[in-house]
Amino acid sequence: MKLQVKTLTIEKKYDVIIENGALAEAGKIIKPLIKDGAKAMIVSETNVFPLYGETLESSLHAENIKTSRFIFEAGEKSKSLDTVYSIYEAMAENNITRSDIVITLGGGVAGDMGGFAAATYLRGIDFVQIPTTLLAQVDASVGGKTGVDISFGKNLVGAFHQPLAVITDPLTLKTLPEHYVKDGIGEVIKYGCISDPDLFTRLERGTAMDNLEDVITRCIASKKELVEEDNADKGRRMILNFGHTFGHALEKLHDFKDLSHGMAVGIGMVIAAQVGEKMGVTKPGTADRIIRILGKYGLPVSHDFASEEIINATKLDKKSDGDTLNLILLKDIGEAVIVNTTRKEVIKSMP
Ligand code: NAD
Repeated sequence: MKLQVKTLTIEKKYDVIIENGALAEAGKIIKPLIKDGAKAMIVSETNVFPLYGETLESSLHAENIKTSRFIFEAGEKSKSLDTVYSIYEAMAENNITRSDIVITLGGGVAGDMGGFAAATYLRGIDFVQIPTTLLAQVDASVGGKTGVDISFGKNLVGAFHQPLAVITDPLTLKTLPEHYVKDGIGEVIKYGCISDPDLFTRLERGTAMDNLEDVITRCIASKKELVEEDNADKGRRMILNFGHTFGHALEKLHDFKDLSHGMAVGIGMVIAAQVGEKMGVTKPGTADRIIRILGKYGLPVSHDFASEEIINATKLDKKSDGDTLNLILLKDIGEAVIVNTTRKEVIKSMP
């Protein structure tokens, strides 16, 4: 399956290829997109490269694409400017020029950080994303957001940089630990909530995850529509953040440990639906449907914090502006709206 994403601000299009076995075809997919003789630097990490690095390198060598690699320690801790600096050094040592490319192989960490290194080295060179977690396949790899964390918060330094292509091979998910599969399912459920009621119903029935190619394609189709409309992340694209305002707050309250992003977003979606119901925006019963579906896929649905603590923790949120915040609420499953409100109002409607 192939979806094409238009990026209006810089008039560039790229393909997102979602196919079982696509990894072994990476060389063939990339070859026509780059100049003759262009080299590729693979940016990957210590868990993923040993599993999939050889398949990727062989497919590139078969097309006479020379490769070098930078392998970092797996995990969010590595998503830092220090690691980016080391990537720059590796690029310089390997004589990476503006005609060459970066290929990121891994989850959201490899994609975000490798993409950021590509966005900034020599004022920007092309890159290809090969996402290997469900979260990265349905979310992080599309939309052009790249970046790293600093001690003040996650993703505070970054750039919009669109990839040359995204190559998604759902078969790579076979080795993904259960915990991270659940994390990705949180995001899949989100797509059902904001724009794909049919996907939501199939998830409720328990049949959706049998065909991962299809699920990933549907999620990316939803994201594609939203990012095409709004590349700079100012308007409609914000609905992709359904569950994220409260989710980020919960992640922060957990000090970014024990509660994963997808799980936090799941609980965030429940809170947003409950708030929406109290505000009279959301169809009654929606929060219960979300609670049931999260439970079905083994995701948590509740938390132990007071409403005030959660609201205070939303203050660093990018969707927040002083005392007001843009809250993403649902009218119904499959239909999201942006509501500009105040923290005081939200507290009144918290469960
Ligand atoms: P990750 O890259 O750390 O991957 C999670 C874990 O899975 C790691 O331990 C990794 O080594 C392992 N792994 C990855 N693929 C594997 C595979 N196929 N088999 C076995 N193990 C595998 O994290 P993630 O959950 O993919 O992504 C989280 C990151 O993505 C965060 O930094 C977040 O900020 C970012 N993100 C970015 C965007 C965006 O739009 N750019 C969107 C959402 C999230």
